[in-house]
Amino acid sequence: MCNETMYDLLYVGIDDTDSSEGMCTTYIGAVVMDELKDYGFKLIGYPRLIRLNPFARFKTRGNGAISFKLVIKSKEEYERAKNLILNCVEELSHLQEENTNPGVVFYKINGVKDYNKEISEVKIQSQLENFSLNAIMNIVSIEESEKLAQEIGAEIVKFKKGRGIIGALAAIGCPLSDKTYELLSYRTPENYGKKRKIKYHSVHEMNKKTYPQTFDNLDEEEGYIAIEPHTPCPILYGIRGETANAVLEAHNMVKTYEPIERIAVYVSNQHTDMHLINSNTISQMEKYKSYITNGTVTDSPHIIEGGHIIFSLEDDSGSIECAAYEPTKGFRNVIKELKKDDKLKVYGGIGEKGTLNLEKIEILEQTKFYKARNPLCKCGKRMKSAGQGKGYKCIKCGFKLRDGVKDLIEVERNIKKGFYEVPPSARRHLSKPLIRIKK
Ligand SMILES: [Zn+2]
Repeated sequence: MCNETMYDLLYVGIDDTDSSEGMCTTYIGAVVMDELKDYGFKLIGYPRLIRLNPFARFKTRGNGAISFKLVIKSKEEYERAKNLILNCVEELSHLQEENTNPGVVFYKINGVKDYNKEISEVKIQSQLENFSLNAIMNIVSIEESEKLAQEIGAEIVKFKKGRGIIGALAAIGCPLSDKTYELLSYRTPENYGKKRKIKYHSVHEMNKKTYPQTFDNLDEEEGYIAIEPHTPCPILYGIRGETANAVLEAHNMVKTYEPIERIAVYVSNQHTDMHLINSNTISQMEKYKSYITNGTVTDSPHIIEGGHIIFSLEDDSGSIECAAYEPTKGFRNVIKELKKDDKLKVYGGIGEKGTLNLEKIEILEQTKFYKARNPLCKCGKRMKSAGQGKGYKCIKCGFKLRDGVKDLIEVERNIKKGFYEVPPSARRHLSKPLIRIKK
């Protein structure tokens, strides 16, 4: 009964198609979706661009996977969509690169009545949601992914090692209670690898008109355009923002001197801090994971070779080395000003060497910091040392103080309490900018 009002929804996830030499999974997604539309398929909602754990050992450049969903009305349609998608992935992926191991996942939900309802209203299995969170906060294996796919009845297709099925599943299942949008514009293939021709002035204008509904358009401190990638990938620029309308409007303001082949708008977990685990015990924090934790600075930050700044943070359970690396540029000037006993909340991930890479900090309490000065004379003038062990003398009135002690004067700190973050150029895809926190 009522068969004509029931549809199947097919979720498609794709990952690990690119390499350091080029390509981009978002581009393959855009091509696939455009072809599906050309063949009359109905796509529902915005496709998703989901960033996974930035510390996963095997990962694509930005460790981002994509997914989208479409309406399927028959077995034949399902096969047709599947063939079209797989042909496209096979043709465009950088399969010749050892570390490119694409994976595609097809997950069908049968008997959906109203496909216009947003994704959250169609029940994605909680197992799949948990798997996604795990892929964003921890590390998951290809085997775990295969097991999950079997349990929930998703069809997986692996190219070579098929590592991409991890991200493909995660991109389908990721809950998006907080979300941002990214509009990506793509170059025509003859321009791949060449210098991008963006009219920079138009980007400044666009930023002026749309910030903070769009963000990370410019790196003001470093004085460059942040929407432009610096890899040989097909992306001409990417505009990030709070809504699809905001990024579309911004895109219409950006001018280029080269043609745009196509655009795509993705909804994303970028800039939501979804990768961060709340921790209240430093000793239990692990490598390759990212955390928010509180602690006390135990030494004065020092600079090491390469221009990185390092300090230690401790709580009752233990301590960890924290770093503001050279690419974080001006953020290091804040870190340099931290003092022993300052209390902080830190946000960042722990790399291979066990050091926490800072993404942002909140200075909760600043230790009082004193500078010793010579005592004041009764005439009001600051006294001079009379020589080693000889006390102080006043050069104005000649008064001498044999057993005078230095005054301790509270030094005004160069930084205030509050939040500080790395510049857009050094920001991780998942890291939430302060402008989003303030909202
Ligand atoms: Zn005096």
